[in-house]
Amino acid sequence: MKSVLVTGGAGFIGSHTCLLLLEQGYNIFVIDSFINSSSRSIKKVLLILKEMGIDAQRKIHLTNGDIKNPSDIEHIFKMSYKLDKKIEAVIHFAGLKSVSDSIIDPISYWENNVVGTINLCKVMEKYNCKNIVFSSSATVYKTESNKLLNEENICEPVNPYGYTKLTIERILKNLHSSKSSNWRIASLRYFNPVGAHHSGFIGEDPLGKANNIYPQITRVAIGKQSRLKIFGSDWPTSDGTGVRDYIHVMDLAEGHLSALNYLIKKKPQFIAINLGTGKGTTVLEFIKIFEKVNKVKVPFSFEDRRPGDNASVIADNSLAKSLLNWHPKRNIEDICKDGWNWQVNNPKGYLN
Ligand code: NAD
Ligand code: UDP
Repeated sequence: MKSVLVTGGAGFIGSHTCLLLLEQGYNIFVIDSFINSSSRSIKKVLLILKEMGIDAQRKIHLTNGDIKNPSDIEHIFKMSYKLDKKIEAVIHFAGLKSVSDSIIDPISYWENNVVGTINLCKVMEKYNCKNIVFSSSATVYKTESNKLLNEENICEPVNPYGYTKLTIERILKNLHSSKSSNWRIASLRYFNPVGAHHSGFIGEDPLGKANNIYPQITRVAIGKQSRLKIFGSDWPTSDGTGVRDYIHVMDLAEGHLSALNYLIKKKPQFIAINLGTGKGTTVLEFIKIFEKVNKVKVPFSFEDRRPGDNASVIADNSLAKSLLNWHPKRNIEDICKDGWNWQVNNPKGYLN
């Protein structure tokens, strides 16, 4: 396989994955509406590769387009045929991802995530491209206890964002089961992606307000915010604060290449696979490690639990290990170091 379409490739996880794809010699077509990103991430990707002695300029075709518009997607497939770089697979990151925004504006989430994916699949069928790796999420799981979550622990999602992810999985599953289907589909359920490429050139730079823990920690560490509000000190965990499975974005990016390699070698199928480390970290542990590794202070206060939160969300990643031969290589210290390196070098994100 030589040519891959990456939807949402300018975003956080997409840009890190584009870097790896280009490093491995793929031709990539990127479609991004830049609703939550900047084309500068792709420029930085090319810069990293240049420093590695790889000139990837002609290997990447970046289009400002929206998957809500089928014609934008079709335009790229046509272009790939014209350039004799026929798209053979899609890595589908494009989507809106804020749980809180999805509660405020569910229609936009259904339209962007679900309708956008339907548009994508229709065009893929038309061009007989039936290999897709989809960005799903641990929000599809029921998390009542501290036990590791395996791929069977599906639940009724608790917010519109989670519903859109589960719905897309079902659409993809139906597509695979349809008559004469030869779709190869991997739905990767991410746990908590954080960190940045170790170069400090690319990282997370959401355009709106980010409510996740990591951007909050860095904001406090850099002095933009006086303290971190810890949501709950009475969870049934080792120190009373919430436990999550934080996964380095480069490990996650590697998981996409492993999934792609797996799919093309195997028979048509739909498979859902967790991408997490299998290790949990409490909020207090996260703060302590961040402070130690980066020699900075992160003052905090305890607040009430956040509505809809869970005590513990940790992946059972045995399927990814056995099936994809994928193993996360980076630990929480690397996450803290690399994420901080990106923040310190780019205090204004890609606006620098
Ligand atoms: P991101 O917002 O940085 O990247 C998504 C990209 O898609 C952005 O560049 C955005 O501009 C683009 N996009 C959105 N809607 C689009 C549309 N209609 N047409 C074209 N481009 C569009 O987010 P991310 O963290 O890189 O997440 C990538 C995917 O992974 C998303 O689907 C997200 O739901 C999923 N995911 C993310 C997390 C996380 O915590 N980061 C966890 C689980 C799942
Ligand atoms: N959290 C916190 N303060 C914040 C943001 C998050 O204490 O400002 C906690 C949250 O309660 C959870 C963990 O950090 O235990 C991870 O939250 P995040 O929103 O990053 O991820 P998610 O809950 O979606 O897994």
